This record gives sequence, C-alpha cells and structure tokens, in this order.
Amino acid sequence: MFTLRKKRVGALLVFIVLIAAVFVWSIADTELAIALNGSDRVEIDYGETYEEEGAAGRLVERTFGQELFSIRPSVVQNDVRKEVGTYQIVYEVRFLFQKATAERTVVVVDREPPVIELAEQKDTELTPPGEPFQECGYRAVDNADGDLTDQVESREEDGRVTYTVTDSSGNTATAERIIRYIDTEPPVITLIGSEHMTLRTGETYNELGYTAVDQIDGDLTGQVVVEHQIDSQKPGVYEVLYTVADRSGNRAAAKRTVTVVSPSYDPSNNSGDKIIYLTFDDGPSPYTEKLLDTLDTYGVKATFFVTNGYPEYRDMIGEAHRRGHTIAIHTYSHDYSDVYSSKEAYYNDLDKMQEIIVEQTGETTTLVRFPGGSSNMVSRAYCKGIMSLLTRSLEEDGYHYFDWNVSSADAGGTTETSVVVDTVIKGCSGKRASVVLQHDSKGFSVDAVAQIIEWGLRNGYTFRALDENSPTAHHGVNN
Ligand code: ZN
Repeated sequence: MFTLRKKRVGALLVFIVLIAAVFVWSIADTELAIALNGSDRVEIDYGETYEEEGAAGRLVERTFGQELFSIRPSVVQNDVRKEVGTYQIVYEVRFLFQKATAERTVVVVDREPPVIELAEQKDTELTPPGEPFQECGYRAVDNADGDLTDQVESREEDGRVTYTVTDSSGNTATAERIIRYIDTEPPVITLIGSEHMTLRTGETYNELGYTAVDQIDGDLTGQVVVEHQIDSQKPGVYEVLYTVADRSGNRAAAKRTVTVVSPSYDPSNNSGDKIIYLTFDDGPSPYTEKLLDTLDTYGVKATFFVTNGYPEYRDMIGEAHRRGHTIAIHTYSHDYSDVYSSKEAYYNDLDKMQEIIVEQTGETTTLVRFPGGSSNMVSRAYCKGIMSLLTRSLEEDGYHYFDWNVSSADAGGTTETSVVVDTVIKGCSGKRASVVLQHDSKGFSVDAVAQIIEWGLRNGYTFRALDENSPTAHHGVNN
C-alpha cells in the first residue's frame, strides 16, 4: 500500500515537472507586442476635443506567430491640454518579465485668424481734407490668444486705413476702413479742347471730351452728364452743358459754346470780304471785363483804343492783350483843350499812354485813334491846323491812325442797347470792311456786342482785330 502510494506520488511529480517544463519553454518563446489604434500623430484644431483611441497589446508565440492572448495596455503618460502645443501619450503593457510601450504625438494647432472689429465712424468724426485721419477705435480678438488689440498695426494710405494683426500661431487678419472726408469742394470739370467752337452749318458736333476730378472722390469723368441742343442746320450760338456731382452732393458745371455759322464764314479769311472790325474807345472801364468775356464766348478778337480814364481798371489792358485783342492808343487824358493845344502836348499825351501800354503788355503799339477822330473840329478852338499837322506827323513817325466807317450811336445818339445793335447792323450791312466804333466805357453799348456778333456770324461776316495793314477808314481832316 505504502509502495503503491509512493509510486503514484513519483509519477505525479514527474508529470508536474514535465508540465512546468513545457510551460516555461512556451513562455520563453513568446513576445509581448503593442499597437496604437489610429495614427501615431494626431492634429486637432484648437478648441476641438481629443478623442482617445487607445492601443492594443497581445502576447504572441514566436515560432508560429500565434496570438496567445490579448492584454489591455495602460496609459502611463498623457499631458494633452487644450492650449496650442505638442503633447505625448505613452501606452504600456507588461506580462511577467516582459514590457512593451508605444507613443502617440498629439498636436493642438490654431488655424483660425484673429477677428478685427472696427468702431463705427460717426459723422462728427469725418476727417477734414488734408488732415490725418483721427482713429475712432478698434478691437482684435483671437480664439486662442484672446485680446490682441494692442498688437494691431494700422497704416493710412490713399484714403484708407489698413489694420493688421497676427496671432501667436502666425494667422494674420486684416481689416480696412475707408476714410470719410468732409467734402465741401465740388469736383472740377476740365474741358478738352477750346471752350468755344465754331461749326459750319451741316457739320456734326463732335464732343472733344472732358475730365472731372474731385479732391475726395477722385476721377468722376464717367459720371459727367453732357447736354446740348445743337441744331447744326441752324446758325446760332449753342451751349453744351457738362454737370457732375460728387458723393457729398457738391455739384460742378462747365459749358462749351458752339457757334454754328453759315458756310461762307471763315475765321482765317484773309481775302478781305465781309470783315467787321469791332473797336472800343475810352476804356478800360468797369464794363471791359464783361466785354472780354463776351468776345471770348464767340472767339472774336477786337481792338481797344485805350485811355487812362479809369486808372483802377488799367490791368484790363494787359488782360485784353493776353486774350488776343489788339491794344491801341486813344489818349491818356481825353482832354481836348490839352491834347490839341500843341503838337508837343499831343505827343506828350500819346507817350504817357504808350508807357502804360508797355507796362501792361510788354509791347509798344503803332495803332492810334484821335480823340474825336481825325475829322474833329473841336481842335480848331485850341490850335489851328493841328489835325493836318498831326495826321502827317504820326504817319512819318511810323504810327497808323484809324477812324471808323460804322458808328454805333453810343456816343450821344442813344443809351439803348437795342438801338446800338440796330445801328451797327445797319452800318455793317453791305460793307466789305466795317470799322465799328463803340465805347467800352458804356455798359449799354457793351451789352449790344453779343447780338452784333451773332448777327455777323449768321450772315457770313468775319470778325478781326485791327493791325497795321487793316483798312484805316480815314475821315477827311477838317482842321
Ligand atoms: Zn474817345
């Protein structure tokens, strides 16, 4: 019995040892493995939550690659936070004396730029033109960095302010403010080509163009409205009207005068047919500037026999010269008792006027008209025979004196503009060359000029200023 028991125990021991040997042998031939679920590098946006995907561990038998069993890894390190940065998660599995680890990198990135908010500009904060813009406030906030207002950079250029800010991840935001200026200045319309055009009947009016610029709004050329009612079949004076307004409602206007003339009209006509020389004595006066504007309207050149009657308007002599009119000598004093008292007195008066003309125009003139004309008889009362003497002497000295062959009746015959118009028209009708006498010292006579010119243009007359070769329309000398 005892022997039998011993034998059994012995067999059992052998069995146990065998099992243990097999077990130890099989364990020694295993490997512990760990694998991440998902990628080993995960990028998430700032504000997004990291979802842990975990890892899997297993024990594998080496010889046949057979998985013996799986083991759940534990996370031994995880410092992932919500702030922008790079973090590590470490997973580990252990089995007896074996250990395996795996790492995952988690990157929190900020791809969202900051937001710049501009304070609304109030009307009271409008910028006066030419002055720097007064900042009226802004704020910059970033999803990750928070308030970045003090890092905003602003730059003013060409009527705009540009704001820029960059967050710590390098995301840049920009905003732009258009500066609102106080604009009280209207735009400026500039006509291309002359303000006065002449068309022959039947010719088509072609717009020569224009530009419009506003100090605040810039180029407004495209917004200019052009209006006219030119009837090129009908001689007359027409206006082309140009208007434009800036954004602040400041309006600007310009006009071009288009004169439609009958086909025989030729401003460069030198042949001598149907010419009217408008001449004006006794100025410059308070009315001369208006006369110059009227003449400009029609592109007509005239002749001014000037005096020193209104010294305060003396600069109109220079102005008339600059605008292309002829400046000629009438008299300095227009005082017959002095001017015609002697040849010396006449020349003294003439020279004084010449001096003013040189001062105003930079040039001397050789064109002269006697006070009262060469046929005046009033001179006889002061010096007998003086007109005969002066007319000869002036010619010898290189001067050319002019009288007139069309009177306007403005020297005493009338004070009515309409009478001046009628008298001049009647006087010019049928003449090949008319030297018209008017006085720009008389407002009612100056007012007649536009109608006289329109009549002349419609009827094929050419208006010219006098020069040394023009007809002199001499009167007979009576003293
Ligand atoms: Zn006079």
